[in-house]
Amino acid sequence: MSCEPVVPRSGEVGQDDAGIALRVQGVSVAYGNRLALDGVDLSVRRGERVALVGPSGAGKSTLLGLGSGTVVPTQGRLEVLGVDPWAVSPGALRRLRARIGSVHQQLHLVGPLPVVHNVNAGRLGTWGRLRALRSLVRPLQVDEARMALDRVGIGPYLHVRTDRLSGGEQQRVALARLLVQDPELVLADEPVASLDPARAEEVMSLLCGLLEQPAGHRRTLVVSLHDFDLAVRHCDRVVALRQGRVVLDVPVEEVDEGTRARIYDLAPDT
Ligand code: ADP
Repeated sequence: MSCEPVVPRSGEVGQDDAGIALRVQGVSVAYGNRLALDGVDLSVRRGERVALVGPSGAGKSTLLGLGSGTVVPTQGRLEVLGVDPWAVSPGALRRLRARIGSVHQQLHLVGPLPVVHNVNAGRLGTWGRLRALRSLVRPLQVDEARMALDRVGIGPYLHVRTDRLSGGEQQRVALARLLVQDPELVLADEPVASLDPARAEEVMSLLCGLLEQPAGHRRTLVVSLHDFDLAVRHCDRVVALRQGRVVLDVPVEEVDEGTRARIYDLAPDT
């Protein structure tokens, strides 16, 4: 069992940019006097699937927030897709965010709108305001939206009001939105926390399937999960956090009963 990261920590930020999707070096995040992350080092390679596990309050969402460029590090160095989000212009930060997909427990769909608009919301990071408004009047890139819905198994619902769909179908709309966004890095914060085990398995399989790209390439995934077994089944690597620190970082092939026991022993932080 190893506490060392799979990717060596030694590289300076800026080195090996092409191969690293997310690099966090000595990063702390403080909310007032509460330290949410405490000197975290983590590198995620492009194409890798990394599960974040650990008790509630351990710092998983904060770490994902660093990756999405929404949480500012109090200390340390951060690089997302080769860019330090807090060292670039607002325009460059906007462009960076368009390359990052987020998946949440809350789907953030607009219920009264037809499905096509919610799928096209995946393009808002790259469309200008005028284009977005035009598409609300007459949907643009409808064929691509339909293809994305086909891929998640709900092709015929393109023009159906989103709030008429079941919860599971709405989840698929959110995944189709992710697909049209075509992000390089996907950050998922407890995406299956509210689902029963069968649905959770289905959604994780669907999500991981969408990360596959032609010619054996894969989009990078960092996902926080409560269910350790789900993490092992779907990810390449498990990173456990406790009290804002990385306490375990291990490839799934090396996960054994000892690792499992250690994860389940991580007491709540409160
Ligand atoms: P997890 O996702 O593992 O549950 P979080 O990253 O949400 O953990 O939280 C880590 C710690 O930071 C917790 O103690 C939490 O209360 C605190 N925290 C998170 N977000 C905020 C915030 N916006 N303001 C104040 N404290 C926060």
